[in-house]
Amino acid sequence: MGQSRRQAGIVPVAPVAKPVLSELNSRLHEELGIPPSYGRGGVPPYYPAADALVDVGPNLVGHMQRLDPEAAARWHEMVEAAGADGVRLLIVSGFRDAGYQAGLIRRKLEAGQAIDEILKVVAAPGFSQHHTGCAIDIATPGSRPLTEEFEDSDAFAWLGENAVSHGFSMTYPRDNAHGFIYEPWHWALNGRI
Ligand SMILES: [Zn+2]
Repeated sequence: MGQSRRQAGIVPVAPVAKPVLSELNSRLHEELGIPPSYGRGGVPPYYPAADALVDVGPNLVGHMQRLDPEAAARWHEMVEAAGADGVRLLIVSGFRDAGYQAGLIRRKLEAGQAIDEILKVVAAPGFSQHHTGCAIDIATPGSRPLTEEFEDSDAFAWLGENAVSHGFSMTYPRDNAHGFIYEPWHWALNGRI
């Protein structure tokens, strides 16, 4: 009697879904002390690793970045369009694998940060949109990379008006459902995330 249950304030509990982690991700989660509840119920979502990647050029510190081929093509188009409007879009980070993601967390643990605090800023291995090769951290000259300063840049204003026509959206807005901090620099290809 669903109706009477609802009236009584009883909500049926759905099975607690947690994606089955790969052996590598399971090992990394155990090593890093990721809480077993992480990712349960699809928050944050699990993201499969890209199966094809292409080089898109070096980032600010000279490390070659890679993206999914479709994301790469759309990114190059968007960079060109922004450039024609006098706006420079630079890639900080494209594809990241689970091992790299674990390294980001390991360094913060070694610096004495608590895992719960770290996980608001860095997704656990297997749960970063960057694994898909379809997410890009974007910077622009005159604004410190990966800070909220980006929000005040001409590049951010340009993206707000034009990114969607190139297929990109900002996927970690303020108060996002993923439980992550606001990341005005993080954009991902629509339909692929
Ligand atoms: Zn990002």
